Amino acid sequence: MNAVAERYVHLVLALGQHNPDYVDAFYGPPEWKTAAEKEKKSLDAIGAEAAELIATLAKTPNPGEELLQLRREYLQKQISALAARVRMLKVEKLKFDDESRALYDAVAPTFPDSHFDQIIAQLEAKIPGKGPSRTGGSLWERYEMWRKPFVIPKEKLDTVFQLAIKECRTRTLAHVALPPNESFTVEYVTNKPWGGYNWYKGNFHSVIQVNTDLPILIDRAVDLAAHEGYPGHHVYNSLLEKNLVRDRGWVEFSVYALFSPQSLIAEGTANFGRDVAFPSKTERMKFEKEVLFPAAGINASRADEYYAVQDLMKDLSYAGNEAARRLINGQIDENAAVQWLQKYAVMEPARAQQRVKFIQRYRSYVINYNLGEDMVRRYIEKRSGTDSEKRWSEFGKLLASPRLPSGLQEK
Ligand SMILES: [Zn+2]
Repeated sequence: MNAVAERYVHLVLALGQHNPDYVDAFYGPPEWKTAAEKEKKSLDAIGAEAAELIATLAKTPNPGEELLQLRREYLQKQISALAARVRMLKVEKLKFDDESRALYDAVAPTFPDSHFDQIIAQLEAKIPGKGPSRTGGSLWERYEMWRKPFVIPKEKLDTVFQLAIKECRTRTLAHVALPPNESFTVEYVTNKPWGGYNWYKGNFHSVIQVNTDLPILIDRAVDLAAHEGYPGHHVYNSLLEKNLVRDRGWVEFSVYALFSPQSLIAEGTANFGRDVAFPSKTERMKFEKEVLFPAAGINASRADEYYAVQDLMKDLSYAGNEAARRLINGQIDENAAVQWLQKYAVMEPARAQQRVKFIQRYRSYVINYNLGEDMVRRYIEKRSGTDSEKRWSEFGKLLASPRLPSGLQEK
């Protein structure tokens, strides 16, 4: 399998020459990257080689040990997703669900408008101002007005974010053994289609970028710190490097193909990691009220009110998938997608436009966040129940293993 793994890495690097977003991280031998740049393999050649590798893997005898079986299955799925990406770059136009199945090994559930209407009705009651039955502002306008006091002032952003990181790191280190030299740096950037990004550089180091195009609200501090840092992407990548690349010599983990099943695990664990770090709402609220709200200069007595609304907003996250599905399937255009997000995801126009840009660039990748989180949650909770210690150990095991989306649903 080592030989197949090595050829897989070369193929990912080769495909990266055709699709710059494709190689999200690579910290293997630098000359492999230079070779891919020099060779500039054609899409046809990449596709043919992927098919050959899939056939080779199919002939490999069952390795017995569970971790080795997971490794083989991981390679199979990653390579077949790579082959699908090649076909997409050539001609093939896939429907949203077919694309997510081919690239991410999962399909997001579909919800009718009535599902979101019912959540929106609850929000209508919580957000002051004129409701739809009367005249005046639409829900997204009132929501924007209402949540203005919860925006982190720009000059306090780094202080608040560093406090959130420190807390998430302490909570993670109490349960997960990390390489002693692990670290990351934080940068504030603009003009990006995403809110935050973790660039893993290898040697247990990440660069985390936070996009400040739009106001950042107080709940984002812990969300970002947990998702991009501890116990999210930074920890996931560090554990893969430590346990699989260095200890076992599994070179396939030194490259991260963005449009691949691995992304559902990465985004799903990064999102769910927030609830692993803060196993109860009480704990999270205590930290928010005592530390983050004061550091941001925001009135902590309204924290419960704010988070009750955020819980409802989270239930609307699948509205984003619906907008993406319809846009990618050509049922609606860009403007209609912006309108849809304003109505069903309660987004102001600038946020809706940013999201549409994200969808146009990353397409069905959007399901990796909410569906990924739900799949990881079900998998972990099935094994640990509500025992937070057990939850950490199952979570740590998942982060350090090659398990893939369909593998989360088995048993
Ligand atoms: Zn992420």
